[in-house]
Amino acid sequence: MTVLGKHTFHIRSAEVISVGTELLVGQTTDTNARFLSGQLTELGISTFRHTVVGDNGSRMEAAILRALQENDLVVTTGGLGPTSDDLTAEVVATIADLPLVEDPAVRQALEARYPDKSRYDFSSYPRLPQGAKVFMNDQGTAPGSLVFFNQKDQQKAILMLPGPPDEMEPMFLRHVRPFLDSFSQNRFVHRYVRLFGIGESKAEEKIRDLIDHQKEVTIAPYASMSEVVIRVSQRMEPGESDRTQAVVDELRERFGQDIFEVGSRPLEQVVLDHLIAEQLTLATAESCTAGLAASTLASLPGASRVLLGGLITYSNEMKMKLLGLSRKLLTTAGPVSCPVAIAMAEGCRRRTGADLALSFTGLAGPDGGTGDLPVGTVWIACARAGGATSARKYHFPGDRERVRIRAVYTGLDLLRRLLNTQ
Ligand code: AMP
Ligand code: MG
Repeated sequence: MTVLGKHTFHIRSAEVISVGTELLVGQTTDTNARFLSGQLTELGISTFRHTVVGDNGSRMEAAILRALQENDLVVTTGGLGPTSDDLTAEVVATIADLPLVEDPAVRQALEARYPDKSRYDFSSYPRLPQGAKVFMNDQGTAPGSLVFFNQKDQQKAILMLPGPPDEMEPMFLRHVRPFLDSFSQNRFVHRYVRLFGIGESKAEEKIRDLIDHQKEVTIAPYASMSEVVIRVSQRMEPGESDRTQAVVDELRERFGQDIFEVGSRPLEQVVLDHLIAEQLTLATAESCTAGLAASTLASLPGASRVLLGGLITYSNEMKMKLLGLSRKLLTTAGPVSCPVAIAMAEGCRRRTGADLALSFTGLAGPDGGTGDLPVGTVWIACARAGGATSARKYHFPGDRERVRIRAVYTGLDLLRRLLNTQ
């Protein structure tokens, strides 16, 4: 069996089949499928389905046969080891109608790698479908392999990869990807337009017409706690031009200030980069977020150039001691109020000497809400040198964790908008 030439077989679509009963009983998570889908996308190959199947020969065979009907390539992970439940190579050899044989290069590599015979069972070497393209395993013993064959006059390929992610991922990146690349002619272009301050459904409503009329360029919103991302994608066939930029320009037109990034940076990175560029320093005074805002920024390299520190002032006593708030203010206005948020931000700025200070005071719940101050109410204020302090009241739905995370990102967004409009 010879490996087919560069331009005779074009791989356009794939299915990833993860093999292992441990995945089906909830013992481990299928991270391989996610990794491989990302990689295949980068290669311009569409993944149409993920399947998980246990260590069972007949079910695995049925899954692979079905996947082959729908795709050019089937990628399996797992079931390649030397134990009796490792059946993948056998099943694939049957499907491709190829004998299983030992590969001398694999044998040699294993003998060289394991001179200590007690560590590796040399009575059996990995057997692979005859003629398969072999990919060495630099981290373990089971090699990967790619077989090409004809099925009902159609060219098909099956790529077998080991299960352990610390073996599979480097094998794919080092050996498989460069080889597979020449079988794919298409490329995907993905652009990510990131928004904050607008909900997913509202964002979708604003671009409904674009979504309804999408052709070559796909527009797909996706929301998380920290952003709404609109993915603008195009699958580019050879000779086709990139049409994503025009769509991105249109989105800029429609969303304006709500867009904080076109690219890969999360909101905290955009804010940090801006503060670094402007040579501004920041400190936080945090009640309900208890350090999460400072921590979110500090998770980024270079934060020390901006972040002077954060004061976790959970109790009234600490708000008085560390930020200089008066007992009177706290009792008359209440700890979750506009005057307290402002006093916290201003006190924090004064005491740290930062150019900017962000404060958070709110009710993360689940208890403690009242009619006037329901759970999820958060006041956020931003004080700045030589400028007025701004404060806003928000209401975040969801559990404690969600309220705290949303508060932090909303505070960062408040800061971003203040800086941009200065
Ligand atoms: P195997 O090659 O089937 O012997 O797999 C060995 C180990 O790799 C399993 O016990 C899992 O810990 C891990 N593994 C297998 N498949 C996956 C997968 N799809 N995602 C993440 N880990 C996996
Ligand atoms: Mg297994």
